[in-house]
Amino acid sequence: GIRLKDEIQRIKQMLAAAQINLECRGEFILTNVTPFTENILSMCLKEAINNVVKHSGASSCLISIDQTQKEVVMTIHDNGSFKTAKGKISDGHGLRGMQERLEFINGSLELLTSNGTAIIIKVPVDLK
Ligand code: ATP
Ligand code: MG
Repeated sequence: GIRLKDEIQRIKQMLAAAQINLECRGEFILTNVTPFTENILSMCLKEAINNVVKHSGASSCLISIDQTQKEVVMTIHDNGSFKTAKGKISDGHGLRGMQERLEFINGSLELLTSNGTAIIIKVPVDLK
């Protein structure tokens, strides 16, 4: 599986090449989820950043990870503008694929589009 720590390295290069500033907050070494769950988080992060580069027109992007006893919360927030009308998860494969993978591990995905685009992903902790 892909580790979050490795994915973030690739993302740094991608965003630098696209001239989008990156701010990271939190600990990208997860201690409380299985490799399977971490792999899904990494895939979601990768797709969210693909979308930032392809669609947002943003000049900066914030990735934050917050680990509590119950869940891991990962937020990807860009300062661009969301490209479809109602901010609904539409027909592209990316957002739908993320949602399907997250449902599989009882995670959730929230999309906020009023101030750039923010994707908030929550997955339950599955390691003691
Ligand atoms: P695919 O991911 O299958 O290559 P896609 O990127 O168009 O195609 P989704 O990832 O599902 O599909 O995203 C759906 C749509 O939501 C995009 O086409 C785009 O219009 C909009 N969108 C998604 N993320 C962003 C973002 N960060 N900024 C602006 N618009 C976005
Ligand atoms: Mg996409």
